[in-house]
Amino acid sequence: MLEPALLPTPLVDCTDEVLARAGVRLRLKRDDLLHPAVPGNKWRKLGPNLEAAVRQGRTRLLTFGGAYSTHLRAVAVAAGALGLESVGLVRGEELADAPRNWSLRAAEAAGMELVFLSRSEYRETAGRCELDEDVAEGLQRRWGPCTVLPEGGSNALAATGAAAVPAELPDLGERDVVCCPVGTGGTLAGIAAGLPPGARALGVAVLRGGAGYLEGEVARLHRAAYGREFGNWRIDHDHHGGGYGRVPAGLEAFAEGFERRHGIALERRYVAKLLAALYDLAGAGAFPAGTRLTAVVTGLPDPPDAG
Ligand SMILES: *Cc1c(COP(=O)(O)O)cnc(C)c1O
Repeated sequence: MLEPALLPTPLVDCTDEVLARAGVRLRLKRDDLLHPAVPGNKWRKLGPNLEAAVRQGRTRLLTFGGAYSTHLRAVAVAAGALGLESVGLVRGEELADAPRNWSLRAAEAAGMELVFLSRSEYRETAGRCELDEDVAEGLQRRWGPCTVLPEGGSNALAATGAAAVPAELPDLGERDVVCCPVGTGGTLAGIAAGLPPGARALGVAVLRGGAGYLEGEVARLHRAAYGREFGNWRIDHDHHGGGYGRVPAGLEAFAEGFERRHGIALERRYVAKLLAALYDLAGAGAFPAGTRLTAVVTGLPDPPDAG
């Protein structure tokens, strides 16, 4: 098994005047410290998938991602550590002949074979590898027997991996809201499923226009992993900051202030958006006094030399 650096991950109180005024407490679940190269929720989601692959005697993982995909890097490193081959199908054929960016370079350095697809080919395969048997069989024919992981790594097994996060939180109850950012929804699905009765989960969507679609994804993962749906979660769609990867000036200022006050470096695409949303919601009175928020710090900032 892929060794974690630190499990269970630390849980730290995060006292802040703004939140105190709203009667809200905040704790940080430091999953960013879990593993240096397979951070946070990527490790949580990959764990059960890797175990299944090894148990089934698979020697190769295949997955999908964009030019800066954290999931691709995580799969490359995890596969390498377990002695498995890995293939990454990357969105953007124009990247094939361009100098590799830091993220693709890291995936290749970990032993991943990169294959570049046009946007339409990518949509046809990545978007349908789980739903369309022809696509799934086509991948097995082309790449041999392999474990195929969807873009972002969110499948039923991934959700069960993320369910370990609330299991590491003691005494959750009615006043608790466990919060995470939402990209594909796998992490939120797992967290909601792992909560004890009374506690709730809140996801903050980091992409624009996901309302309805993301709720459908979480419900689909719940049915696939647990055979039922859960009513203890919701997704906030008002704090995406203009879209995936966008960091408006106000969000950057919030992140820098938070880093200064609390001495923790914030990943911007997901973690900073999550925390900014929680401050905003608390300030607007969205949480009853006495609420205890636990924000899952799902990942690490890009390396300082990221180009
Ligand atoms: C990939 C990623 C997410 C998105 O998680 P989903 O399970 O796809 O919703 C959240 N936070 C960080 C830091 C990530 O790298």
